[in-house]
Amino acid sequence: MTESEALLRAQVLRSLIEKANRDYYDLHQPTVGDRDYDMWEKELLSLEEEFPFLKDENSPVRRVAGGLSEGFAKVQHNPPMQSLDKTHAKEELAEFDSFIRKSVDGFSYVIEPKVDGVSLSLVYSGGVLVRAATRGNGTTGDDITANVRTIAAVPKVLPPSAPKELEVRGEAYMTREGFVELNARQAAAGLEEFANPRNACAGSLKQLDAAVTASRPLSVVVYNSGGLGCEGFATHTQMIEAFREWGFPVSPYLKHASTQEELFAAIDELEKARHSFDFEIDGAVIKIDERVHYDTLGATAHGPRWARAYKYAPERAETVVEAITVQVGRTGILTPVAELKSVFLAGSTISRSTLHNVDQIARQDIRIGDHVWIVKAGDVIPAVDSVIKEKRTGEERVFEMPRSCPVCGGEVRREEGEVAVRCVNPACPAQLRRRLEHFASRNALDLKALGERVADALVDSGLVRDVLDVFTLSRERLENLDLAEGANAEEKEEDFQDGLLPGLFKPVRKFGRNAVNLLNAVDQARTLPLHRWLFAIGIPGVGVSVAKDIAAEHEKFSDLADSAVLKNVLENDLKKGKERKVLPIKVEAAKAVLSFFAGEYGKRFAERMASLSLDPQSEKKVSATSGALAGVGCVLTGSLSRPRHEYAAMIEAAGGIVQSSVTSKTKYLIAGENVGASKTEKARKLGTQVIGESDLLALLA
Ligand code: AMP
Ligand code: ZN
Repeated sequence: MTESEALLRAQVLRSLIEKANRDYYDLHQPTVGDRDYDMWEKELLSLEEEFPFLKDENSPVRRVAGGLSEGFAKVQHNPPMQSLDKTHAKEELAEFDSFIRKSVDGFSYVIEPKVDGVSLSLVYSGGVLVRAATRGNGTTGDDITANVRTIAAVPKVLPPSAPKELEVRGEAYMTREGFVELNARQAAAGLEEFANPRNACAGSLKQLDAAVTASRPLSVVVYNSGGLGCEGFATHTQMIEAFREWGFPVSPYLKHASTQEELFAAIDELEKARHSFDFEIDGAVIKIDERVHYDTLGATAHGPRWARAYKYAPERAETVVEAITVQVGRTGILTPVAELKSVFLAGSTISRSTLHNVDQIARQDIRIGDHVWIVKAGDVIPAVDSVIKEKRTGEERVFEMPRSCPVCGGEVRREEGEVAVRCVNPACPAQLRRRLEHFASRNALDLKALGERVADALVDSGLVRDVLDVFTLSRERLENLDLAEGANAEEKEEDFQDGLLPGLFKPVRKFGRNAVNLLNAVDQARTLPLHRWLFAIGIPGVGVSVAKDIAAEHEKFSDLADSAVLKNVLENDLKKGKERKVLPIKVEAAKAVLSFFAGEYGKRFAERMASLSLDPQSEKKVSATSGALAGVGCVLTGSLSRPRHEYAAMIEAAGGIVQSSVTSKTKYLIAGENVGASKTEKARKLGTQVIGESDLLALLA
């Protein structure tokens, strides 16, 4: 290779890596597989070794990747938080092993899972958690203390046996099960789903509102010392043992090895166990156990010389994209779906996989007829990892989003700034089917007899033209409902055909006795509390917890459409600054609900509710005269251990009035940590009592 060829190739690799970094760290939307990324990195490193003129401080392989985000204070890491050098094959690991054997005497290895999450630094002072930060670029990270405080697994206070001043480092992750549930919740609320647990974790930690982080299933594993408090340990193993005693979650798997053989065996064993952890792992980390060698071995620009990552090949399967179909969801969003040649992967047969949106298809350049690699996100959700471009024959076709709704033929629109394309016809049967299914789902009206197939049949038979029609169904019509009428009925034929050859007869299955079950459930739904109904409507952005927050501020359904509380939230938002009142309802949610009821569909819905004499009541509405804090003015200040709006809601639920600044009407100033002296001084002058969080809880109890 000539120098100019090398330069060209290095430039190409650098821009590929930079782009992949941006997609991964800033957009939380990975566009290349780990393998490809690692190969580029490796090729670039070896080019830079071979052609020293290429070496450049700013080369992406000389820096730790990982973005810094706006809206967070910056912290300095001392020593810097490093990455790890990686190996992908046993031969490379053998090189590492012989390098270590040449360099030091009297050592052994520890093998741990490489947790695929987000690096974290935790700093304790006086035994109390005072700072949590991301790795960022290695020397500077984002201060995400408020968010990390909401993670139950992170100890907030250490036992007396722990050093008073301590920094530990580890990995935050989203549990696999939690990831699947979160995505289901996102989908139910009409929000975008996450690509994998790592992205979901990163996105959850970079929330400006800690309450959002608190609602996410996050945990941590601690595996490293930082700049403080861990100097005394002779071995890594002893240090991990101490971490465990101090209350930190540590890796459930830690193996020792002395010989190369033992090392390889441990790595293979860990690979077999990789699906048994509640976090995703993308490899093994091999470390020297004896810490005395760390200084001798030192570090490269990328990571310490006393540790190495061994990356496992992702479990993947090859298949063919036979077609790309389009599904129309509850909110009208058109989602392209890859129809795959059936293939078996990690425990199940896969024949479809969502492609999310057109941008995603373009980014991955997926074409109809392409051979592709399939992986499972979170070990469960099948996803197209990458296209096997070498197998292209030229016959592949580029997918185009239909210009009208594939179900109702109505107009489709792409809102500015949105990636999603929507069918805007509110009467679209595809939307109605899914709206009905959502209306009947567990957290909504819980109509157990009404699942996907029944929803399809009810809509397609014309029995239901609006979700509220379920309140007017007659038993006879329902009993005779033909479930084979529904959309995609052929696909579902075999489910209920019992012995009939598919296609030979037109299968008929009557709803029959289930009719009574459904009617009973419908009857019970009449008296369900307001938040269940509000969620059932399926307003985008109004998930279970948002619906609860809104319902708590209202008495009954008929108050929503013209709600002074919701309008107040919008006005409050315009005020900004100090006059702003702390309310648990978010501006976007207030906007969504008000605009729903202002729209054609919402108006009709409200009228229909009234004509059906349905007016669901809110569960709890404590009157302002009877609560423990009835009529009492309170101000919250300083950093509190729970989100401020939680406390505000508790105070208001007890009849109290949350004020934004201390006035002569303020009875209590609830002061968290780091409260400025001027605040408490002013409070004392005005005769306000300064109390702590525990005092508040006692008052509320
Ligand atoms: P990468 O993010 O791919 O550059 O890999 C390096 C990262 O792996 C480190 O910065 C850590 O965040 C992470 N990691 C996960 N598990 C471990 C572990 N057991 N020991 C050290 N680092 C780990
Ligand atoms: Zn449509």
